[in-house]
Amino acid sequence: MQYRINPKNGDRLSALGLGCMRFTRKGGFIDREKAEKEMLRAIELGINYFDTAYLYPGSETCVGAFLAKGHRDKVKLATKLPQYLVKSYEDFDSFFYEELKRLQTERIDYYLLHMLSDLNSWLRLKELGVEKWIADKKASGEIINIGFSYHGSSTGFTAIIDAYDFDFCQMQFNYFDLHGQAGERGLKYAASKGLPVIIMEPLRGGRLVNGLPKKARDFWNEQSPKRSPTEWGLRWIWNYPEATVVLSGMNSFEQLEENSRVASDALPLAMESGQLALYDTAREIIKENMAVACTGCSYCMPCPAGVDIPACFNAMNVRRSDGWFNGLREYIMCTTLKNKPANASVCVKCGRCETHCPQGIEIRKELEGVVRDLEGPAYKTAAAFIKKFGKF
Ligand code: SF4
Ligand code: SF4
Repeated sequence: MQYRINPKNGDRLSALGLGCMRFTRKGGFIDREKAEKEMLRAIELGINYFDTAYLYPGSETCVGAFLAKGHRDKVKLATKLPQYLVKSYEDFDSFFYEELKRLQTERIDYYLLHMLSDLNSWLRLKELGVEKWIADKKASGEIINIGFSYHGSSTGFTAIIDAYDFDFCQMQFNYFDLHGQAGERGLKYAASKGLPVIIMEPLRGGRLVNGLPKKARDFWNEQSPKRSPTEWGLRWIWNYPEATVVLSGMNSFEQLEENSRVASDALPLAMESGQLALYDTAREIIKENMAVACTGCSYCMPCPAGVDIPACFNAMNVRRSDGWFNGLREYIMCTTLKNKPANASVCVKCGRCETHCPQGIEIRKELEGVVRDLEGPAYKTAAAFIKKFGKF
């Protein structure tokens, strides 16, 4: 296993981390026996970073039961506060202690504020007193490192980093999303501030493997050396020295073995420019399947009405490449979990954004398409639910 050093505290972290959100399920519940065998194998392979969350059904309890069997000190344990459900100062403690109980531990090594989406999502927590709460938990040794996971544009990501002295951060990154969400700009910015960066969705939730258009699959198959789309995808990320740990939601021995093998020799800056150019071609092929040619650069932001323009277009593209359900899920996640709605229909058609778009996208017209294709009854029901029980 390759290890990368956390620049903030010197921790020696495995370049491959175990994402614990995709354990195999049987009859709606995690198959505990299988998951425990996989966690054990992960440790044998040198993986020493496990990532779970309050919101992953059954995951914390399953991980906790395994770690309690003598494995706790073999891994750095990461889990996440469901910050969008926090409504008062007392809620911080109530979620946190429930997580400690589920995980059968007295400390969390890497604790994340789950799914911050822009600067306002941090400021809301700040108003609730999160800074004092973090200071207390670090002083008591119950939280060792505090960070956040992020879904939003790069502008919001860098603003959050500047707003508080975080110990680490977690962002989506893969060769297709070079400029999507926090993107390469966010990754390099975080590293320039001395933060270790945990990478999630390295294969876009498997969509750069099983969801690849045939033309892109054929393209990778033609390349030499012969590598699977998984290996091509992971190597691209580990080529970045700024990527500290890459999380993979592995739920089979085959995946554990393959990804560990790749992690052992995919060193930073190991790729030559010719190989890197292959990813540009693959990205272009995939983009041919896109609905809107948005690169996610965020030059059109902020929108005075609150529309998260790149997030809207990203959801449309997910819909085109991965189907309606995945597009809708992405759309809900990126437009409703904020202080105020960020969906396409709040656009007031001022046109300001279009003067900044380097791709010349007719943003207002495209947003009408987003409303038509993604804001049906399912979206409205989900948004109403989140408004009632979430943080609006
Ligand atoms: S046209 Fe719509 S999306 Fe663009 S800046 Fe104005 S309100 Fe925002
Ligand atoms: S709409 Fe244009 S400016 Fe806005 S993120 Fe997409 S490509 Fe960039």
